[in-house]
Amino acid sequence: MAMQVFNSLTRRVEPLEPLAENTIRLYTCGPTVYNFAHIGNFRAYTFEDILRRVVQFNGMKIKQVMNLTDVDDKTIRGANAAGVALTDYTKTYKDAFFADLKVLNIQPAEVYPAATDHIPEMIALVEKLVEKGVAYKSDDGSVYFAVTKFPGYGKLAHIDFDHQRTGARCAADEYDKENVGDFALWKAWEESDGPVGWDSPWGRGRPGWHIECSAMSMKYLGETFDLHTGGIDNLFPHHENEIAQAEAATGKPFVNTWMHCAHLRVNGEKMSKSLGNFFTLRDLLDKGWKGREIRYVLVNAHYRQGLNFAFSALEDARRALERIDRCVDALAARANDEPAPAFAQEALDAFTAAVNDDLNTPKAFAALFDLVRQTNASGTCSKAVLDVFRKMDSVLGVIFFGKAEKAEVPAEVQALLDARAAARAAKNWAESDRLRDEIAAAGWLVKDSKDGQSVTRKSV
Ligand code: AMP
Ligand code: ZN
Repeated sequence: MAMQVFNSLTRRVEPLEPLAENTIRLYTCGPTVYNFAHIGNFRAYTFEDILRRVVQFNGMKIKQVMNLTDVDDKTIRGANAAGVALTDYTKTYKDAFFADLKVLNIQPAEVYPAATDHIPEMIALVEKLVEKGVAYKSDDGSVYFAVTKFPGYGKLAHIDFDHQRTGARCAADEYDKENVGDFALWKAWEESDGPVGWDSPWGRGRPGWHIECSAMSMKYLGETFDLHTGGIDNLFPHHENEIAQAEAATGKPFVNTWMHCAHLRVNGEKMSKSLGNFFTLRDLLDKGWKGREIRYVLVNAHYRQGLNFAFSALEDARRALERIDRCVDALAARANDEPAPAFAQEALDAFTAAVNDDLNTPKAFAALFDLVRQTNASGTCSKAVLDVFRKMDSVLGVIFFGKAEKAEVPAEVQALLDARAAARAAKNWAESDRLRDEIAAAGWLVKDSKDGQSVTRKSV
């Protein structure tokens, strides 16, 4: 069965097929780098990670772009309060974000464009919208998008704005905007912006948040691309506005498929910075939880289902992972070439059907645990079962194959490792480095520690 996903635009489950070159072009709204990301944000990023892994599991390629919002009200406020340059302020949180992605075993996107590196592209897009008559300059030097000029406005959120406009227009009279629904494409410089600002045809200012995503997605993925995602809070107005900006400028459909994940909640409320009910990844690591246990909790629920955060879920994750580890380790210790038992293929088929059915991870985990149970019960020693675990984990990303890998290092790689150990004992670092490269070329990564060298299979 081909991969199917729920498209928020059509509100239907549909096949996900690449527009071109067997590549899914994916844009994912990224972090605003004014603080450490909380695990609610990571619910969105792990959902997108599962999505890109399932795309690859199905033999398609992926080109993912994730933006870094490094200029907005919050980043400017933070930098000015701290008395540091905006770029210095945001760098701390960009670095922290990339470190957190690694801890959660989230595959890196192909491009991470920062908003401040793309101001000319954003200005060009705003100019185009002004030329087309769908955007206007207000008295203070800001530029707004006129939602009444874009007939499709509301199609993603499934809201009929035609019946709501009159009242809105009255209420908007006291503002610079012609209509309350109009949103800023360019924001005129204000005192509180301090040193932050760029020159534009409308005077000094900075881009609005929505224009950032339209400009950068089209730059890297083209005017029409396959897939765009985010948390459900992004659907309106952010994604609706992205569609309006892009389609009004190009006259072409912007994105084929939109996907949104439900929120991570705490005691029934959205986990968010503004409510103060959040845990950062670091908070949980400090309490002794591991990245893969946190990942397990986040990806174990279906992405469109609300997920309530609780420490008991982390305890369950720890036990579940221990059970998987025990099974995989035992299998690795006695693996042989005997043919795969039928249940291994059945579990893989069930797993494949589950992930291809709108990323049904709860069912996929059920297939994984079925495999654990039957492997334990049958006492099979087949290496092929280990391969099935690997295939499943290429999507889930939670299994630790440490022991399995030790048992599987091919003889030629082991010979290179032995030669490298000898070179290191003789302090011949050049030879040691050369052998590291040779081992890498064979598909294995060497790690040195006080206990000597160890290898892991290079991820693909
Ligand atoms: P932000 O930094 O607020 O722009 O959010 C970055 C991403 O995290 C967006 O895709 C949001 O939709 C998502 N997000 C924020 N809070 C939550 C939450 N509690 N649960 C799931 N996703 C969230
Ligand atoms: Zn965005």
